[in-house]
Amino acid sequence: MKDVNIREFQNMMRRIYFDRDSKRGAIETFDWLVEEVEELGEALGEKNTKVMEDEFADVLAWLASLSNVVNIDLEKAAIAKYSDRCPKCGQTPCKCSFITKK
Ligand SMILES: [Zn+2]
Repeated sequence: MKDVNIREFQNMMRRIYFDRDSKRGAIETFDWLVEEVEELGEALGEKNTKVMEDEFADVLAWLASLSNVVNIDLEKAAIAKYSDRCPKCGQTPCKCSFITKK
């Protein structure tokens, strides 16, 4: 398969899943995304590249599916916010004072 950009990936998810996703609705689709994010967190602890790849793929797929359900152009939103600089400090690389969330 050729390289695909974010928009093409989101459109692919639409072709494969939109019918089912739109019937499920935004909140239940969001619940699936959260579950996949949790699985990604568990996979990080296993340090197994194949397992991590699977979970990264699932998170991206559910994020794209949720974007379709609420009619958000994921590529447009991502590039608008992260336009080659940190949206908080405006710098590349980021110069924000915090490093960890806590
Ligand atoms: Zn920053």
